[in-house]
Amino acid sequence: MEELPDKVFVPLGRRGFDPIPLKYCHVCKNRSACIKIVGKESSEKQEGNSILEEIDYKATCDSCGETFYFRVRKIYDVIDGEKRLITATINILDDKKNDLGWLGNF
Ligand SMILES: [Zn+2]
Repeated sequence: MEELPDKVFVPLGRRGFDPIPLKYCHVCKNRSACIKIVGKESSEKQEGNSILEEIDYKATCDSCGETFYFRVRKIYDVIDGEKRLITATINILDDKKNDLGWLGNF
């Protein structure tokens, strides 16, 4: 499935941001396991001149068989009717959608 980036950027103190691969299993941490995206849910809400878009990608791991989610949050400003992307972040959620933490930006 497209749209989910291959890499995210993680802050490393003073060294700025380093890209790390995104598509590996965040349950068993097996970086060579094959991850399948099996579903996608998105929602959008507008607050004043900003739009918050939230997309949950459901993923399964071929190695451990677990399910987890990549949650992408995108914030846009709307200027003269045009959406401009301000920031995009990715969190990892477990199979019950408990937030396991922020992973990075892209
Ligand atoms: Zn796994």
